[in-house]
Amino acid sequence: MSELSGLKALVTGGASGIGRATAALLAARGADVAVLDLDPSAVGEPLRGYLADVSDDASVRSAVAAAAEALGGVDILVNNAGIGAVGTVGDNDDAEWHRVLDVNVLGMVRTTRAALPRLRASAHAAVVNTCSIAATAGLPQRALYSASKGAVLSLTLAMATDHVREGIRVNCVNPGTADTPWIGRLLDRAADPAEERKALDARQPMGRLVTAEEVAAAIVYLASPAAASVTGTALAVDGGMQGL
Ligand code: NAD
Repeated sequence: MSELSGLKALVTGGASGIGRATAALLAARGADVAVLDLDPSAVGEPLRGYLADVSDDASVRSAVAAAAEALGGVDILVNNAGIGAVGTVGDNDDAEWHRVLDVNVLGMVRTTRAALPRLRASAHAAVVNTCSIAATAGLPQRALYSASKGAVLSLTLAMATDHVREGIRVNCVNPGTADTPWIGRLLDRAADPAEERKALDARQPMGRLVTAEEVAAAIVYLASPAAASVTGTALAVDGGMQGL
């Protein structure tokens, strides 16, 4: 029997990058997995895809209800959907702050709120939030993004405390720069994307980006019964960036 067989998992933002790798690994370990995403069209078997916008409470509630019904419960919730923002505090206006916080922070609140009754009914309930080293690293040109991930870190710790006696564990992962379509889109804006990619690799302590699969492995560990006594933790998967 596989490690996660019988467990039901929801992964937001699971159609791309870290979420996609996580959904695939959860399924490979035996979990039944539903992906909630703005674009679930590319989600293939054995995963179930559901259209959901985490910035819209009604959309989240109906997607979580449909997915939980189809799966027969929710044991694992991976709050992974997120968007980026570039700039100093002087660069982003209120509308941009609201837009990013609405997805990156309230998105996790909405999905967790919608899944809580199912999580409370689970004997192996685990929530894993995709945070970032931006939460603690003071990255340049990332004021809004960093604030959003700082909130995710605090939210993770608060949720871990609030729900520990209900048997729900809550942890987060803090990826460094991870090789996903997100980073591909940023590189595409450079004059010479291939050169920019080389420079980006060279800036990493390990000389390369973290892979989506490496982050997924950490998420799946935190979600699994192997981490049954682990809650309120932030696990860095950053190739040594945080230590600099
Ligand atoms: P990605 O852009 O490849 O994938 C993000 C997914 O989230 C996409 O499938 C997208 O459709 C979905 N999504 C975006 N907004 C959504 C919304 N409102 N509702 C539902 N789904 C939505 O990005 P990624 O690099 O895999 O990032 C995933 C998570 O990892 C994010 O939370 C991001 O902040 C975090 N992260 C990424 C990196 C990195 O370097 N790539 C580093 C640290 C943290």
